[in-house]
Amino acid sequence: MDNILYLVIPCYNEEEVLPETSSRLKGKMNELIGQNKIDSKSRVIFVNDGSKDRTWEIIQNLHQEDRLFGGINLSRNRGHQNALLAGLMTVKDYADMVISMDADLQDDINAIDEMIDKYLAGTDIIYGVRSSREKDTFFKKVTAEGFYKVMNTMGANTVFNHADYRLMSKRALEGLAQYGEVNLFLRGIVPMIGYSTDVVYYERGERFAGKSKYPLGKMLSFAVEGVTSLSTKPIRMITGLGFLIFIVSIGMLIYSLIRHFMGATIVGWTTLMVSVWGIGGLILLSLGVVGEYIGKIYLETKARPRFIIEQFLNDID
Ligand code: UDP
Ligand code: MG
Repeated sequence: MDNILYLVIPCYNEEEVLPETSSRLKGKMNELIGQNKIDSKSRVIFVNDGSKDRTWEIIQNLHQEDRLFGGINLSRNRGHQNALLAGLMTVKDYADMVISMDADLQDDINAIDEMIDKYLAGTDIIYGVRSSREKDTFFKKVTAEGFYKVMNTMGANTVFNHADYRLMSKRALEGLAQYGEVNLFLRGIVPMIGYSTDVVYYERGERFAGKSKYPLGKMLSFAVEGVTSLSTKPIRMITGLGFLIFIVSIGMLIYSLIRHFMGATIVGWTTLMVSVWGIGGLILLSLGVVGEYIGKIYLETKARPRFIIEQFLNDID
């Protein structure tokens, strides 16, 4: 088994972290090359996701100074998932295994060793899983863990406490390449590929510089995206709800008829108001959920490109 490793790192406005990130990764890569664990043709590829700051300039300089570093410049900002996909799909032809991670190195880079060991033992996909959330605030912990639980009950099966820190073999990436969906939620698709999988536990640190590019709003829409792009369970839940309400309405019909024949036709105003508002709200909500799927279909049928690469810098031997 050959062992050319490529790291793929999406970057959006990361000028503050890139100098430190690149030097830490360089140390790590050289250590691995020195131990003969990975080939000297291994590379670190930064994907510039339409940053507005000096990110691309820094990447170009890194590439010029050291051939270990390469870069992909996207034509504009496409979001984390698309940037990551652009990187994975571009480097899969050069690499035997690819690890994706964030630019802020919140994911412990020392987990790479174990990932490679597992890859060399024949595993195709190795998920980096957070061992604890001690460093998170209570709010972040509750929302993030709730995220995985809600996702799973909604039919989007993901690996608990795993984000996008993972190793994938070349053939797993080739599997991923066959998923042509525009509504991209990688951590839901990767488990669908199959092959042998394993996990590596690590402690997730704090972002050492710069601000998070994932505020709460973005995270919520990411969750909606995840559920609706992976499963139709919400629509089925609506069907179930409709069925339930239908049963209740039959009960109401019988009740009303009995009351009618008993001569007491004027039943409470309150019940009426509550049902009108309640059912009206449910109908609107259900329409919204169905509309969400129609929007997805609309985008999928257009089949627009998921990313456009403006420039690819990579020195191969
Ligand atoms: N990112 C990106 N495009 C975007 C937003 C974020 O490529 O539109 C990258 C970002 O540079 C980082 C990774 O996605 O490498 C994760 O972002 P961040 O660390 O801000 O998220 P958090 O760790 O707070 O969830
Ligand atoms: Mg981060």
